[in-house]
Amino acid sequence: MKSHARVVIVGGGIMGVGLLYHLALEGWREIVLLEKGELTSGSTWHAAGQCPHFNSSLNATKLHVYGTQLYAKLEALTGHAASWHGCGGLRLACNDEELHWFQHVYGISKLAGYEAHIIGPDEIAQHHPFLDTKGVKAAFLTVTDGHVAPADATMAMAAGARALDAEIHRRTRVTGISLLETGEWLVATDQGDIRCKHVVNAAGSYCDVVAGWTGHRARIANMLHHYVITEPLPQLIGRGPELPIVRDPWAHCYFRQEAGGILLGPYETAGAHPCWDGAPAWDFESELVAPELDRLTPCLERAAERIPLFAEAGIKRVISGAIPHTPDGAPLSGPASGTRNYWMHCGAALGICQAAGAGKYLAQWMVHGQAEINMREFDPRRFGAWESQEFARAVGVADYQHMYYCYKPAEQHAVGRGLRKSSLYDALAACGAQFSQVFGWERPRWYDHSGNGEVFSFKRSNWWDAVRAECLAVRERVGLMDLSTFAKFEVEGPDAFAFLQRICANKVPTASGRIMLGHLLNENGFILSEVTVTRLAPDRFYLASAAAAQLHDMDQLRWRIADGERVSITDVTDDFGVLVLAGPRARDVLAACTSADLGNAAFRWLTSKEIEVAGVPNVRALRVNYVGELGWELHTKMVEMPLVFEALMRAGEPHAIALFGTYAMNSLRMEKAYHAWGEELTNEVSLIAADMERFVAFDKDFIGKAATQQAKQEGPPIKLVCLAVDSVDSDCHGNEPVYHGDRLVGLTTSGAYGHAVGQSLAFAYVEPDLARADERFEILLLGQRCAARVLARPAWDPENVRLKG
Ligand SMILES: Cc1cc2nc3c(=O)[nH]c(=O)nc-3n(C[C@H](O)[C@H](O)[C@H](O)COP(=O)(O)OP(=O)(O)OC[C@H]3O[C@@H](n4cnc5c(N)ncnc54)[C@H](O)[C@@H]3O)c2cc1C
Repeated sequence: MKSHARVVIVGGGIMGVGLLYHLALEGWREIVLLEKGELTSGSTWHAAGQCPHFNSSLNATKLHVYGTQLYAKLEALTGHAASWHGCGGLRLACNDEELHWFQHVYGISKLAGYEAHIIGPDEIAQHHPFLDTKGVKAAFLTVTDGHVAPADATMAMAAGARALDAEIHRRTRVTGISLLETGEWLVATDQGDIRCKHVVNAAGSYCDVVAGWTGHRARIANMLHHYVITEPLPQLIGRGPELPIVRDPWAHCYFRQEAGGILLGPYETAGAHPCWDGAPAWDFESELVAPELDRLTPCLERAAERIPLFAEAGIKRVISGAIPHTPDGAPLSGPASGTRNYWMHCGAALGICQAAGAGKYLAQWMVHGQAEINMREFDPRRFGAWESQEFARAVGVADYQHMYYCYKPAEQHAVGRGLRKSSLYDALAACGAQFSQVFGWERPRWYDHSGNGEVFSFKRSNWWDAVRAECLAVRERVGLMDLSTFAKFEVEGPDAFAFLQRICANKVPTASGRIMLGHLLNENGFILSEVTVTRLAPDRFYLASAAAAQLHDMDQLRWRIADGERVSITDVTDDFGVLVLAGPRARDVLAACTSADLGNAAFRWLTSKEIEVAGVPNVRALRVNYVGELGWELHTKMVEMPLVFEALMRAGEPHAIALFGTYAMNSLRMEKAYHAWGEELTNEVSLIAADMERFVAFDKDFIGKAATQQAKQEGPPIKLVCLAVDSVDSDCHGNEPVYHGDRLVGLTTSGAYGHAVGQSLAFAYVEPDLARADERFEILLLGQRCAARVLARPAWDPENVRLKG
């Protein structure tokens, strides 16, 4: 084994090998994979190998599409058979919400480029004559679904990687990883040490143990999962073409034709648990875990009703092993937070299906600094220090149990809640707050005064009237929102100004008390972070950014400090609570709680001051908000926020102040055509494409300037538009296809109903030639083509008169 490498990958399952192959295809050499046993001897060897396309996430779907396409041609590429079976797939829907889900995913199929059809029960028999379709409303037919032999696919990619000079060392156990002063990683193994620039944790069931060596975390639940294979059945022996794989949410099972019999895997809800408390012993290799067949019985009984053939055959084989589940079911694929060049590539519950795509896009990220797709939902930094092992276990179990559950927009797991709460949590809960979990925080979505809770749906639901009232309160009177979830940083030091000036595309304020909206770009000019920068003092700045970006943005800031630059960055997220007070009466309400001069001359839009509010000193009052009204963000010490809150609520009573949540905020920001990080603003677009040129200062240097200039000169490949949408009972969620005539020309990124303007609104990226006022499109929204028109200006207060008032 060599003593130096560019990359060392720990783990020779399909994830590690998939990455190795794609790093080699990207042209990297000196890449080494270390495996303690044989390749595939962890979870990979015994997987069922199914590769579906159906997924609510466009980015995950892109992994799936790439995987099925690669597996089908892997033999031609590498000379090793991957045993691909392109038999297609059928997913059944048994209620209306599942049907709406199908309609949403059908739109995603158009964007991701795979063939799908929603078919009725009668048509199902043409594809699968052995199904009893009792209670079935429809099926999602995916023509290019299939299954692969997991070990064959892994070996084929390993052969492809070796042919490009990648090294694989079997029987080499990594025993420790440490960071050297040179910035390299020292990977210690039972066969000697190896130094490398990049290290990748692809250790499957052991990933959290391996992560722990360097103080990282890769929390997973190693869920015990089974599938059974029946004896051959006369009806299936020699039958061709192969039946499509079926996924049945009613029976919580998948099943397919296998060697003349049926392979059937249940995702049982009762009794599901991890295989081990933590990771298996180091000598665990190519073994099965003791099966627990009793707990499968309810699923197997239902499966026998769905496919009566199953009841006719004896069970020949039971496979039971570990599936790694992260709390949100998506793999951890991307940089670990903190030190550079430590990458996670693990936690894959659908690793066979996703390994090729995840390997391709992570390889792009490592080699080129970014992937061509948005990897945010796979970024390991979506979990923070709040993610305890207990949380990961509880939510990992829930994720497994809900594998076939139709999660509606905003619906989340009920377990693992209450991890991060603002000091107002109890008070807001008492007012009916319906909370969403974001980066561990509980953040109010809307306020339910009926006590019924939310009926989750793809369509407008029982929150509609309450959210309308919240929106109109902000537009007509005054609203108050707890937005403590912001990520918050203090940037200090003699070089703080020059540093921010270099990393933000916009001009950093030269005067204390001024505020600006800044974007951190990569060298390719694509958007990585969005921060509100407030200059507190000549050498001190306060930055606020998206809650979910806390670790991501900390890395973006720290990683950009140049050698010798005298800058310190402190994460103050938990120290400050944030109240958003907004609406035409906001000044009256705040004035009743402070002696500070709030008049326009003394306290202009886009400025900040430290003021006393309700006896609480040093409240950072920022005259900005995301809802487009007169108002302030009040950043106060978290412990003191209740005092400020109570005083504002009291002072707001005469003005009928209303609490509002993120549903209302989304509606209000859509009316103002304010963009959202992670939706309109992603690593796939430049500020020019995002129609954000006014936030670019071309008269100074900043990271990504040359590429941004080029995008401006050449014109971006896509352009953002704000659309008025003629929808009836639902609004865009994002990732709906946009058509111009019959041509697919773009996709939505987000949407909401604008209650003050009486119009459903959406953002969409479209072909740049079509990004012009009044251009007409059609959006495929839950199966309906809805007419849409480009708005020339924001629907609400285009001159910004109200927020500057
Ligand atoms: C019964 C069953 C059915 C499944 N069916 C499907 C399916 O149909 N479709 C699908 O997509 N997925 C399926 N899965 C899930 C799939 O198996 C996993 O998602 C996938 O195998 C994960 O691959 P991996 O490379 O991350 O992990 P692994 O395959 O576990 O590989 C990790 C490797 O790292 C090695 N390693 C760990 N620590 C060290 C160390 N310190 N030094 C050296 N080597 C180390 C291990 O030995 C192991 O080989 C199924 C799983 C099970 C259990």
